[in-house]
Amino acid sequence: MKSAKSLLVKNGYVLTMNPRREIIRDGAVYIEGQKIVEVGKTEALKDRKAEVEIDARNMIVMPGLIDTHVHLAQALIRGCADDVALVDWLKNYVWVLQGNFTHDDGRVSAELCMAEMIKTGTTAFVECMIHTRYGFDGIAKAVEQAGIRGALSKIIMDSTGYADSPDIMYPGMVEDSDACLRETETMLARWHGKADGRIQVWYGLRSLGAVSEELFKDVGRRTRSHKTRLTMHLGEVPDDVRYVRQNHDMDLTEFAEKQGLLGPEMIFAHGIHFEESDFKRLAETRSNVSHCPASNTKLASGFAKIPRMLELGVPVSLGCDGGPSNNTYDMIREMRLAALIHKPIANDPLVISAEDVIEMATLGGAVAMGISDTVGSLEPGKHADLILVDMSDLGLTPNTNPVSNLVYAGSGHAVDTVIVNGRLLMRNRKLLTMDEAEVKKKALRHSKDLIERAGVDISPKWPVL
Ligand SMILES: [Zn+2]
Repeated sequence: MKSAKSLLVKNGYVLTMNPRREIIRDGAVYIEGQKIVEVGKTEALKDRKAEVEIDARNMIVMPGLIDTHVHLAQALIRGCADDVALVDWLKNYVWVLQGNFTHDDGRVSAELCMAEMIKTGTTAFVECMIHTRYGFDGIAKAVEQAGIRGALSKIIMDSTGYADSPDIMYPGMVEDSDACLRETETMLARWHGKADGRIQVWYGLRSLGAVSEELFKDVGRRTRSHKTRLTMHLGEVPDDVRYVRQNHDMDLTEFAEKQGLLGPEMIFAHGIHFEESDFKRLAETRSNVSHCPASNTKLASGFAKIPRMLELGVPVSLGCDGGPSNNTYDMIREMRLAALIHKPIANDPLVISAEDVIEMATLGGAVAMGISDTVGSLEPGKHADLILVDMSDLGLTPNTNPVSNLVYAGSGHAVDTVIVNGRLLMRNRKLLTMDEAEVKKKALRHSKDLIERAGVDISPKWPVL
């Protein structure tokens, strides 16, 4: 479906996220082609005539949400490893299931994940580790067709460990480093900047213990020479700290700096075990941290010190992680958790605010993806990536302060309309670029086949009659 030549969203409660963070009551956004032309009071834009007009009465109009840590391949294994410890979670469930993926599974899972992201207001995402067996081309084609904005990171590894546990990886997840690098080069040439600039190709480093120092350095150099970006999980588990301390006598970010990995083009996912010395280096080098509060609480990984990072100027964004660790890809629910979990730790309800987490989910995400010049706020000249959130539901009534109400009482189910690059991807909760019933049907079939093929037992702990 082509985008309308012009689109007018009017009568909304517009969170511009512009430098003054202005909110416009009875506001309107006028879009031509892929870009925002004017933002202001509906009254002031009354002479604008558009091909498509959308009445946003009772709705928040805001920049699309940006999820900076997603595993597309984990949507298909949602709920397959609940209430288990991390190593058991990885070794006996997640890796076994993902290590049995086919290219078809990879595409079906990506479609399921993107359909959920669009329905819950995400307009851009960073997929952090695509294994060759998931089928990079199929996933990129799915992004192209879905109309969402996505950075697709090809997994890079040259060994089979995880932090200080050597040889732990499931055989189906192991890849050869030369093949990883070759495939990334091919995908960069084929997909980077394609689909009207919506698709980016990144490097996705496997965790500590699975990448040698030589490979870290090589990937850092390649990232810069291709003018692309990279991401990796770091400081998710205490074993990461122990591994670097024992082998190199360094802090996590001191080690990353030695490998040439610090900089604005890097996203570190989780960062739970970063400490003061790390915060300083991250802030100085503008290295990004993707905060994943649901995953971190469900897997009992710990609490990233986000309020302190924000205080010191570390760029922080938000991530939903994956289907077995969250178990949703709903950024509004993620914002809620991010706003809640730090308060009791600090014994201070002011330590992080609704405004802070909305910034993390919009502008913070745009910075982490290197696209803050073009998305992340509603301003003339920027690409039209925006969402309309219906605040008229009973559970959102009364909607006295829409900003905090969205964060503390909202969920992705309230998202009504999604626009990316000026194109409607959802309107009145109906997906326009994907067939929702078909996505669900295929996901159910592929999930069942995958679980059988992998031989993993996922049954409730209670007797099923
Ligand atoms: Zn992850």
